Amino acid sequence: MKRFVVALGLTGIICLLIGVIWLIYGKITIKLNGDDTVTSTVFLEYNDLGVSVYRNDFLLDKSKYELKIDTNLNKDVLGTYKETYNINYHGRNFKLDRTIKIVDDVKPVITTNINKVVRDYCTKKDKEKIKYNIIDNYDGDITNKASMEEIDNNYLIKIVDSSNNENELNIPIELTEKPKDIFKLKDSSSIYVVKGSKYKDSGYTYTDGCGNKIDEDIKLEGTVDTSKNGTYKVSYTNSKGDKLTRSVTVYTPSVNNGGSNKDKVIYLTFDDGPGSYTEKVLNTLAKYNVKATFFVTHQFGGYVNLIKKEYEQGHSVGVHSYTHNWNIYKSVDAYLSDFNKMNEDVLKYTGSYSKIFRFPGGSSNTVSRSYSKGVVKAIASKMTSLGYQYFDWDVDSGDAAGASRSKIYSNVVNGVKRCSKCIVLMHDIKPNTVNELDNILKTLTSQGYKFGTLNTNSPTVHHTIVN
Ligand SMILES: [Zn+2]
Repeated sequence: MKRFVVALGLTGIICLLIGVIWLIYGKITIKLNGDDTVTSTVFLEYNDLGVSVYRNDFLLDKSKYELKIDTNLNKDVLGTYKETYNINYHGRNFKLDRTIKIVDDVKPVITTNINKVVRDYCTKKDKEKIKYNIIDNYDGDITNKASMEEIDNNYLIKIVDSSNNENELNIPIELTEKPKDIFKLKDSSSIYVVKGSKYKDSGYTYTDGCGNKIDEDIKLEGTVDTSKNGTYKVSYTNSKGDKLTRSVTVYTPSVNNGGSNKDKVIYLTFDDGPGSYTEKVLNTLAKYNVKATFFVTHQFGGYVNLIKKEYEQGHSVGVHSYTHNWNIYKSVDAYLSDFNKMNEDVLKYTGSYSKIFRFPGGSSNTVSRSYSKGVVKAIASKMTSLGYQYFDWDVDSGDAAGASRSKIYSNVVNGVKRCSKCIVLMHDIKPNTVNELDNILKTLTSQGYKFGTLNTNSPTVHHTIVN
């Protein structure tokens, strides 16, 4: 019985000792915060999640143990790295490993100069080419590794970086609008034909907006009987019902019945065009078979090509001014530069440079004084030495000063009585002149005047140069 008691006491003491040791040292457990293997994006700061240390299943405060991390990690280089957590707790050492993968999981960035491509409907050509640039976070500039292909009205740019990150960019292709079909008369819509001469209609042009000929049967109506005076209609109708009509006037040219005028020559001159009325002037001149001289400008860009028509219809073309701005009188050089620019237009539409010209304002203008003293005199002598001939006028229609139709008529019809070779100043940009021209020509042709065009051999009229 006594022995039993002693044994029980010893057991109690041992248990008490074990309990005390357990309380001091305890059971230590270490757990990784997060996964065994973690990934982190290259170059970015690696965020270590750390460990949790438990003693007897209770979380220990970080201050109760020492933690040292061993690793060869380099966040700037792709690869797999190991990190070891070393924990010392009251002289007891514990270790735990984690694997870290430094990866590139960032897509390359594609940038372009445009976000859509405009393509010409007719030529199927792109108005602007796509330029692209591709920068990858790890590989750098990998523009030349990209591919671009055209799929269903889109350009698709594709790129894959060395870590297999893909990116693509779609650039839509936008076709320009389909241009309208062009159905128009060749040549003028009103034509004058001398009675008894042959007439062949110059026809029409029918193309799609891209300039391709549209082949279909066009209905032609109307005939011209050149044996009988009158106005005839010739028309063309396409399958859509668009109709083009030309009026053809057969006329008997006026006979020279003004005996006293038959040796007199009138040189009609038209300045400041071509413009919106020039075509009408050409038609009226054609009606009376009168040839004239146009001193041309580039003031109305959309009409400059009418110089070709002026030339083709037998009129003379001289230079007036490209800009018709007074500052051309700043200097001889300024004048010449403006003059030469206009003469390039003349070359373009007539095939040769013109040798004749008219000063804006005439050679006697005084406006030039406020730009440069003596400049007109200097220009005249320079131009003469270069072989150019300038023309002023004998008869002023008064249209530049705003004369009425009846005043223009009387200025011209009465004015030409006072000269035997008369240069008449008119402007094909003045509606009063354009509208009165038919009456003027009716009178002058019936009075037996001849009409001439100006060239370097023509009689000249020079006003007195005052600057
Ligand atoms: Zn002028």
